[in-house]
Amino acid sequence: MQRIFIKNIKLPLKFQLIGSEYHHLIEVLRLTSGKFIEIVDLNGEIGLYQLAKINLASKTAEAIFFQKKIQKNELPIIVTLICALTKGKKIEETVEKGTEFGASNFIFYPSQYSPIKFSNSWAQKKEMRLNKIAISAAKQSHRTVIPKVHIQAHLPFDKLENKPKFLAYEKQVASESTLNLALAKLKFQSEVCCAFGPEGGWTPLEVKDYQRHGFQTISLGNRILRAENAPLFFLSVLSFYFEM
Ligand code: SAH
Repeated sequence: MQRIFIKNIKLPLKFQLIGSEYHHLIEVLRLTSGKFIEIVDLNGEIGLYQLAKINLASKTAEAIFFQKKIQKNELPIIVTLICALTKGKKIEETVEKGTEFGASNFIFYPSQYSPIKFSNSWAQKKEMRLNKIAISAAKQSHRTVIPKVHIQAHLPFDKLENKPKFLAYEKQVASESTLNLALAKLKFQSEVCCAFGPEGGWTPLEVKDYQRHGFQTISLGNRILRAENAPLFFLSVLSFYFEM
């Protein structure tokens, strides 16, 4: 079923399809009157809508509310991934796959060993592109929340104050920081964030800085994971722990 996300806070009785939404559903997918689509509002409510009044001349169509759809697709905990910027297309991969795996927010920033030259204009363009990737990954994985992606020059420690916070640290000995215990602490929490280093890992100073800001270092096991795989491993563990 095709799904579109709208900016309304409640599901409307009728929704006018125009522009790229009209183009995709009617001109590309060739949906006709009477066919159903799903519309998701800002609160993540899903409605089943029936297409009507397709007007090829004015390139508009109506989607008429049919019924609500109850679906629980979101992870039971809101996850913010903080990722040091990495080379090439790896951050695109992190957003696409991280969205599929259930993350709700992504914050990228240049850490000490990030192999990129940061500029505001680059960050702005990349952020737009990554937010588009998040939308299409959310659609294809039937998420009801579109994750938000931010690229920042510095890590906004102040915005993360009251959340449980982890730092995935490659030098943390697995047996000394059981992830299980760390996750048990999350049982009554609604949010968590976890930071992941770049290919070169974290410097000791960075780790100290994170710890000063209340981050608990965790190990993701005895094997070193690539920078783009570590966040996915973490999300899989959360899904197993909370959903299965
Ligand atoms: N070059 C480093 C590895 C960096 S891996 C080295 O050889 O030691 C990139 C990032 O993924 C790390 O900074 C960390 O945040 C995360 N990561 C990868 N494997 C991990 C593990 N086993 N435990 C915790 N974090 C890990």
